[in-house]
Formats: sequence, structure tokens, C-alpha cells
Amino acid sequence: MEDILRAAAEKIRAAKYLTAFTGAGISVESGIPPFRGPGGIWNKYDPSILDLDTFRRQPGRSWPAIREMFANLLGAAGRPAVQPNTAHRVLAKWEAEGRIQAVITQNIDGLHAAAGSRRLVEFHGHCRGVTCLECGRERPWDAATAEAEVPRCPCGGLFKPGFVFFGEGIPPAALAQAEEAARRTDCMILVGTSGVVYPAAALPMLARRGGATLIEVNPEPSDYTGKIVDLFIPLPAGDAFGRLERHVAAVRPPRG
Ligand SMILES: [Zn+2]
Repeated sequence: MEDILRAAAEKIRAAKYLTAFTGAGISVESGIPPFRGPGGIWNKYDPSILDLDTFRRQPGRSWPAIREMFANLLGAAGRPAVQPNTAHRVLAKWEAEGRIQAVITQNIDGLHAAAGSRRLVEFHGHCRGVTCLECGRERPWDAATAEAEVPRCPCGGLFKPGFVFFGEGIPPAALAQAEEAARRTDCMILVGTSGVVYPAAALPMLARRGGATLIEVNPEPSDYTGKIVDLFIPLPAGDAFGRLERHVAAVRPPRG
């Protein structure tokens, strides 16, 4: 394992345009409840409630699940329920050191931003607030929104959370930034992503076609492992990044 970590750290140090592509697995050690599987929100609610047409027709059906998602991620009224872990913090530190050019995340939990990442592409939107479907007015998630049965804009329009619904397109700016980063990167670290949610899942393929080295951090193999991944680190994200950072920061003894 130490050999793989050392080899990955070498690639990270040598990269000219380093990127990270993260999924739900990076936030597990922060205590984010999984959306799928036992105890997940989709065991309790039908995913169709996050379909945009359903939401427009029957917002009262969708809001109990949305409210629960906000509460899980943000606390009841905007107070953080969870904190970034070592993996989020190391990525933010690498950005501050000029080592990493972009973090592309599929997560809506806001933990990369909370850790200090600024060159951040939130591919599936975020959970910080709501936007009016009619006039575009934005408002943070606060007590008033949390308590309303169906939050509505002063214009009468429906407020929709800042994250992307099923059947909704990726925000054009996020898509353009993510594809640009994937085309330019010469080393991409995949973290805690299963590679099954498209179009996000195509980004590592795009990086690969451009000749990038791919490093994967995942406790379990994914759809990418053994196909397009050069170095596979089978560890939880926080553990892996803590150890990677020690190798990346280590000053090598002078040669000779
Ligand atoms: Zn409005």
C-alpha cells in the first residue's frame, strides 16, 4: 500500500494541471447519510418526487423529502450538521499551495466549499439555498423556508432547492467548467465515486482521452477500476488523503 501511495504522490507532485473528481464516498467519514441503501433517503421516499415535472405539479409531495435532505446536510435551519473531513481539507490545502487547479464534485453537501476549496465545480448544484422557478430570485435556506409547507417566492413562484433534480440538465456553467478542466488535466484523482451517474461519470473518460494519469481512491472497486485507472488506492478517503499528503509534503533527500 505504501508503494502505491508513494507512486500516487509522485504523480500529484509532478502534475501541471491536477484535478479531483469527487462523489458521495468522500463525505462518508463526515457522517453524511447515504442516499441509497439501508437508512438512505430513497428507502423512505420515491425518487420521482425529485423529478422536476412532479415537483411543479405536486410540490407538497416533494417538500417533506427535500426538507429532510436539507436538515441532514445543513441542520434544521442553516446550521452545519456535518463538517469536512481530512480528504476535503487536504484538497483545499493543495489548492492554497497552488498544487491543484480544480475540484469537480457531484456532491451537494457543500463540504468542499466549507473546507475552503474555491476552484470548485459543483456539478449537481448545492444545498445552500433555494431559487424561484419563475423569477430566479435566490434565498438562503433559513428558518422561514424550513418551516413553510411549500416555500414560495414573493412573486408566487415555487422555490426549488439549489441542487439538480432528476431529469434536469446540469447547470451550463458547471458543465462547461468541468469539461474544460477534464480536457486540460494531466492528472485526475477520482475520490469515492462509483462511475454510474451520467453525464458526470464521463468526465474521467474525457480526462483519459486527453492522456491524463488517473488515480482512484475508493474502499471498493468502481466501474473505472482496472479499466482507465492507473493507480488504485483501496482506502476510505480521509485515511488515503492523510497518508497521501504526508508523501506529497515529504521533502526528498538530495540525490547523490
Ligand atoms: Zn419569484
